[in-house]
Amino acid sequence: MDIGAIFLILTLALLVGLYVGRPIFQSATKAAKEAEPERDPQDHRRSTLLAERDRLLTALQELDFDNTLGKIPEEDYPVQRAELLTQAATALRGLDELQGEQAGSAAEDRIEQAVAARRADASANRASGRDADELEAMIASRRKERQEKSAGFCPKCGRPVSKSDKFCARCGATL
Ligand SMILES: [Zn+2]
Repeated sequence: MDIGAIFLILTLALLVGLYVGRPIFQSATKAAKEAEPERDPQDHRRSTLLAERDRLLTALQELDFDNTLGKIPEEDYPVQRAELLTQAATALRGLDELQGEQAGSAAEDRIEQAVAARRADASANRASGRDADELEAMIASRRKERQEKSAGFCPKCGRPVSKSDKFCARCGATL
């Protein structure tokens, strides 16, 4: 048997093997494809609902903030807020359903709690921001003070003098 014949036989064997094995490959692929849609839509729905809930929480937070700034017409605020609250509660109920949980308290209450928690976070951040501002101001004033103190030296005796000095404290020279 020459090498060409062996090669031909091997090729044929391979093709037969593929042909015979095809249903197995196909059913494996099919099974994988069928398994996915069962799991995926739920995950997709969950992440959609989570994103929706977070978006609405942020919107509620911003609405409240704008309201405290007086940027929202007084008659619009309750309407807009109720609408956002309803939407957020709907998203929350959808999440509860996905998790197979019975809501202990009303979804609206839990949204209000979440908004309040975020507001507390935000004001904590603002407070620390204020502290930081204060600190910056202190650092700046100290820097200025030090600069003033070492504004120069007396041309006569060489004593360090500050900018506000009119006369040298040691020799009395006019600065
Ligand atoms: Zn002097």
